[in-house]
Amino acid sequence: MKVFIKTLGCRVNQVESQAVLERFSAQGHAITQDLREADLCLLNTCSVTHNADRDAEREIRKISRENPQAHLIITGCYAMAKKNEILAAHPTAQVVLKTDLGPALFGGHMDWTVKSHAGRTRAFVKIQDGCDCFCSYCIVPYARPQKTSKPKEILLAEIKDLIARGYREIVLTGINIGNYQCPQTGQDLAAVMPDIFALGGGFRLRFSSIEINTITDGLLAACRAGGQKFCNYFHIPLQNGSDAVLQNMRRRYTAGRYLARLADIRAQIPRAAIFCDIIAGYPSETKENFEESLRFLDAAGFAGMHVFSYSRRAGTPAAAMEQVPDKEIRRRADILHAKDKALRAAFAQSLVGTEQQFLAEEATASAVSGVLSNFQRAVVKGAHPTGNFMRVKITSAQSGVCHGVLF
Ligand code: SF4
Repeated sequence: MKVFIKTLGCRVNQVESQAVLERFSAQGHAITQDLREADLCLLNTCSVTHNADRDAEREIRKISRENPQAHLIITGCYAMAKKNEILAAHPTAQVVLKTDLGPALFGGHMDWTVKSHAGRTRAFVKIQDGCDCFCSYCIVPYARPQKTSKPKEILLAEIKDLIARGYREIVLTGINIGNYQCPQTGQDLAAVMPDIFALGGGFRLRFSSIEINTITDGLLAACRAGGQKFCNYFHIPLQNGSDAVLQNMRRRYTAGRYLARLADIRAQIPRAAIFCDIIAGYPSETKENFEESLRFLDAAGFAGMHVFSYSRRAGTPAAAMEQVPDKEIRRRADILHAKDKALRAAFAQSLVGTEQQFLAEEATASAVSGVLSNFQRAVVKGAHPTGNFMRVKITSAQSGVCHGVLF
């Protein structure tokens, strides 16, 4: 068969599509980038915002229009959330839930291991799936209700194989990675990390994003024990800096607790770069709450933020609340984006004069660009091979990018 795979959404979706692609290739099927010549089209969808739903619908229409003969399979969070609506509008399509994809396509279980990531020095490894936290704005627990973790032995073999294939950075990803628990040994992430660090070969380990209340003392100790093999970088969703709003969001921490945990992280990993996610215009967020949130951001010392404008998700508790007007959501998002830009510029500047571990990713005749252990983008003068770690000295910073020389 000729198989076309289109992926929308998060890292987890991307890893899952890569795993499916590799299974089809291993069975001798051809992967095509041209949907018009495909026998089978697989669309892996997202539903995190209403824009994501719109994108999924657009792709379904596009595939149905440009290749009506193809066997169209729709999977992912939008498929899970809107199965009946999709089948009503597209009766010839097949909706397959992610957990059923292995049996439906390959007659057996998918362990979501991957062997490659096109064109990347960094490999994403899915370690966990599902969430039952039910934050009041989030569709994920409805789209990915089953909490599963990859068995430790499969995980270690996958990472070992990726290191042997030349990947220098391994990014652990999932829906709520801090909830990882090996189904065979019962070990949590903190207990598994020493085994990962013990794997040979020059690599470093990065967390994709991790919830604050899953960052235990044991996990911090495991990170610290990893030394240079652990990326001094944390991406920790905050969503809001006002306790009233956090409570309304059903987030399982207070602003004070979050701040105290940041201090613990900095005590264990002194040079850690900490980024957060924040939602602009969550229902019930008053102007005073927003001001409070801004003051929290000033106190937290983030290196940067990922700013999301609140998106109403049908079926979530927040969708039934009084909504903040779109114009006001945009105003707040603009303020947060400006603050993010200032934080990133200040963080890059703070690295001038320091020595850093740099992973070269792209090369030109006169320089290489890549990322530091703290996920800061950098450009290093000179012709250097990509895919290797280098010790560099940061000499300047411009527009949030560091510049340096070999040390
Ligand atoms: S923890 Fe994350 S994935 Fe889970 S419900 Fe909350 S926001 Fe959604």
